[in-house]
Amino acid sequence: MSIASRTRGVVVDTSQSPHASLRPVAIDAITLDDAFWAPRMRVNRELTLPSQLELLWDTGRIDNLRRAAGKIDGPFQGRYFNDTDVYKWLEAASWSLATFPDPQLEQTMDEVITEVADAQRPDGYLNSYFARDLADDRWTNFDLHEMYCAGHLFQAAVAHSRMTGSTRLLDIAIRMADHIDATFGPEDQGKRIGTDGHPEVEMGLVELARETGEQRYLKLAQFLVDVRGHGFLGDAYDRFGRKYHQDHQPFRELDEIVGHAVRAVYLNAGVADIYTETGETALGAALHRLWENMTTKKMYVSGGLGSRYEGESFGENYELPNALAYTETCAAIGSVMWNWRMLLAEADGRYADLIELQLYNAVLPGVALDGTAYFYQNPLSDEGHHVRSRWFRTACCPPNVARLLASLPGYFYSTRGDEIWVHLYAEGESQIRLEDGREVGMIQRTRYPWEGEIAIEVNGEGAFDVRLRVPSWCGDGATLAVNGEPISLAAAHGYAEIRREWHPGDVVHLNLPMPVRRVESHPHVSENTGRIALMRGPLLYCIEQADNTEIDLADLVLGDDAAIDVAFNPELLGGVVTLSADATVVAPDSVWPGKLYRNTFNAEGARTPTRMTAIPYYAWSNREPGPMRVWIRRG
Ligand SMILES: [Zn+2]
Repeated sequence: MSIASRTRGVVVDTSQSPHASLRPVAIDAITLDDAFWAPRMRVNRELTLPSQLELLWDTGRIDNLRRAAGKIDGPFQGRYFNDTDVYKWLEAASWSLATFPDPQLEQTMDEVITEVADAQRPDGYLNSYFARDLADDRWTNFDLHEMYCAGHLFQAAVAHSRMTGSTRLLDIAIRMADHIDATFGPEDQGKRIGTDGHPEVEMGLVELARETGEQRYLKLAQFLVDVRGHGFLGDAYDRFGRKYHQDHQPFRELDEIVGHAVRAVYLNAGVADIYTETGETALGAALHRLWENMTTKKMYVSGGLGSRYEGESFGENYELPNALAYTETCAAIGSVMWNWRMLLAEADGRYADLIELQLYNAVLPGVALDGTAYFYQNPLSDEGHHVRSRWFRTACCPPNVARLLASLPGYFYSTRGDEIWVHLYAEGESQIRLEDGREVGMIQRTRYPWEGEIAIEVNGEGAFDVRLRVPSWCGDGATLAVNGEPISLAAAHGYAEIRREWHPGDVVHLNLPMPVRRVESHPHVSENTGRIALMRGPLLYCIEQADNTEIDLADLVLGDDAAIDVAFNPELLGGVVTLSADATVVAPDSVWPGKLYRNTFNAEGARTPTRMTAIPYYAWSNREPGPMRVWIRRG
């Protein structure tokens, strides 16, 4: 049976979820054919996936599985969670089949799956670290990521099942899930209390429940959330305390997002999955409080998350240092996953807005334009020392980027009854099935994110709804027309609704004006006082030394009245819109000779005119290393 006829190749399967507001659309029903995402997806398939597979072999990650299976001897290589990189690669490769069908890749995946299968123990347990000499140590230290590894296995298995129809990896996942389910649960069922120091398994279990119809996995996910907040995990590494792994308070009582950022957003994503299945209002209310706290007090203008190197964690409210921003690429990816689940649960455009912000400005900076080098941290200011690496000893980010980019088309559309919801914009085609079985073709024509004019040809017959996201960055400026006739645009929850009798060839025009926006931050973010960031459409901009030579970026001042020119440069950084303006360089040495501090007075240094050029932040650090700033002095 083909995937299309099963319509199962979806990123998160809420098609049967009792409390979901939106139903997913299969990835392979959507083709992106634009100048922005399509080339990145091709690089992801042709360069990222092969280079990562090579690294999985070269760094012993697959050999660890072979060692666990008794095929080779020698020590375990690398870190105790390295199995996850194999699983994330399998997940990325699975999603990629939607856009790039490839029997050879399926064959290669089958060979990797064989190594996974052979490493599984007879009782279903699977983790290559706890093998051989450490086989008796399993489930003794819950900060050693056994369930975290299992969660990535489950997600990979679900993706592989949905995209290939094969249950080979799914069967392995089911055996491991059954093992965990037989081991952990309520004590009155003769099971052990347990939960993982690093959340992730919750998402995997709910998706496994959706894929198999086995409700035990949903109940297990709920159990793993319910036991949190009672100190079971203890103080992480003694010094970080219980907040580090979100074990300081029961989930339903949380009102501040704290601790390790990736763990926090993965946990929230898993809880959002549970919420979509059960509709429990206490879980939904906690998710809303955490979302509000994160987006109004703890998130960078890029959408980056996690402001402390110490504990890879969220900081205090408004603690958002630029050069020392931790902003792990995985935290942004985890947030996209969380917000996708919130969007499916509640159909509120604020979640799609955040997905868009983070895709362009917090996920994408994590990978070089060539698709083979990565950032773990994504600072908003740098002196030219922070450069991308080909790989990391803890390599969570690279395959995480790969799986998100491979699955990206799945985030563009949803349905509800006879409504088609359009969340993201990019040139391309899709074939969408309404609940009553009608098929509607959608052809998007646009130069998004460089231009805000979007034309969507709607090829369907009869009455149905098309709902278009009107991004919050657009304010009241958006306009809408059908077949050239302007219609009023009244967006509810971030979406404009068009309900009419459609005929094949009807065209909707959505215009999202993209003036350059000068953005300032809340005054409590002390580092950004007297500074602005430039944004245009969904993109955040930065200034980099390569475009602003022979000046110290710290001395660059942009006047509030300076006109900012917008130009598309096809030769630069794969083709980008640059922003340029007359600015000045203030020479502090003329009034600050040999001083770090002084009594206040109004004199400032001599000003020299200059021309400033800004590039999209996602594209920084793709040329010779040099200083970079997101926040620019104003005045
Ligand atoms: Zn990471």
